[in-house]
Amino acid sequence: MNEQKIPYKIYLSEEEMPRNWYNVRADMKVKPAPLVNPGTLQPMTAADLAPVFCDELIAQELDNDTREVPIPEEILGFYKMYRPSPLVRAYCLEEKLQTPAHIYYKFEGNNTSGSHKLNSAIAQAYYAKKQGLKGVTTETGAGQWGTALSMACAYLGLDCKVYMVKVSYEQKPFRREVMRTYGASVTPSPSMETAVGRKILAEHPGTTGSLGCAISEAVEVATSNPGYRYVLGSVLNQVLLHQSVIGLETKIALDKYGVIPDIIIGCAGGGSNLGGLISPFMGEKLRGERDYRIIAVEPASCPSFTRGKFAYDFCDTGMICPLAKMYTLGAGFIPSPNHAGGLRFHGMSPVLSQLYHDGYMEAVAVEQTAVFEAAEFFARTEGILPAPESSHAIKVAIDEAKKCKETGEAKNIVFGLTGTGYFDLVAYEQFNNGAMTDHIPTDEELAVGLAALPPQPKA
Ligand SMILES: *Cc1c(COP(=O)(O)O)cnc(C)c1O
Repeated sequence: MNEQKIPYKIYLSEEEMPRNWYNVRADMKVKPAPLVNPGTLQPMTAADLAPVFCDELIAQELDNDTREVPIPEEILGFYKMYRPSPLVRAYCLEEKLQTPAHIYYKFEGNNTSGSHKLNSAIAQAYYAKKQGLKGVTTETGAGQWGTALSMACAYLGLDCKVYMVKVSYEQKPFRREVMRTYGASVTPSPSMETAVGRKILAEHPGTTGSLGCAISEAVEVATSNPGYRYVLGSVLNQVLLHQSVIGLETKIALDKYGVIPDIIIGCAGGGSNLGGLISPFMGEKLRGERDYRIIAVEPASCPSFTRGKFAYDFCDTGMICPLAKMYTLGAGFIPSPNHAGGLRFHGMSPVLSQLYHDGYMEAVAVEQTAVFEAAEFFARTEGILPAPESSHAIKVAIDEAKKCKETGEAKNIVFGLTGTGYFDLVAYEQFNNGAMTDHIPTDEELAVGLAALPPQPKA
């Protein structure tokens, strides 16, 4: 195919949009390990999970076999308000880098929440509504998930209670106002409103909070209020399923022009955007149809893939959630307060953890000043002000494109540009003032969290 024919933005028509989510677990020979009960160490059944999660979402969580899951019409309709998202050929970036590589990015920042999180928020809110629930509770770190869920709940008329990691609540007051505008209530976490919040505050006075703390609070509120369930914006199998829409659209767009990626890159916090982006490509790889290099990029200050252990661990600090087998730094791990860029969860999606463990993907950790340098370069070249999280992927995409310059290879590089950075200007300000620092935890620091892993089920 003649390269000139590839437009700057590849859009799909409504007819070309995917009708089904793709469940990559169906093609995994070694399935992700099941969630287990921390008391009995037995796999969680649907009945065990029912007090916490919506019924249909539990079914999706436990289903390792159904390959294609139809997207309900109501969700498709909502998707059509802001999807398909553009796949952009980064001609300007290629030119600036003087690289022979062809760079593409899938841009998920074209909605008010500013990230890919809306893809799963609308699905989760839809199933809660269908079950006749009054509302949902959740945590939010940087605020994108809380915003996305508030938007989805407002659309469907559900109540939405958000526990926001305190450091973000203080750094990003305007995020809170967006959520309140969509009707959500927003509480800084840890709070005095829950038993687990009071306990964490007593043990760690002055803590700036963590996603793990906020999850514990949101789960407690969901299980103690009739008509409420808890929803989570990342990590879970169901979230990767919903996010597969990103990868499916990407693949349809690339197929239109006969482009086959060599390298696929995504940032990894809990793994949802990366899992979604790579799903259909990973499916081909798992079925032995095609090979791709797949790279997860994580912050050096919260390096679960590259320095964590593959073990069962709690998803939350309060240790009230089921155990998941994943790459983890320990549920007690709290990233250094100077870490500005999201991706602060201590664990990683069990699906991606298994795939990484089995050698189907790579991972690299990058330092935040280098990430912001890449963000600035990208903003000045491609125009979009990227979210710090997304900029981890930008950093490695640029590194790979520079390698192509050395070798003269015209590789196709695809990366996920998960969102925009308008609410991250405190971090940008630090960077612009030259006041941003890097913190790489020492082995001793990491050993504390890893020593506190719970008892492991027998293999
Ligand atoms: C939440 C978020 C991430 C990281 O979460 P994953 O589940 O790892 O995808 C990345 N980028 C943006 C913009 C986000 O909001």
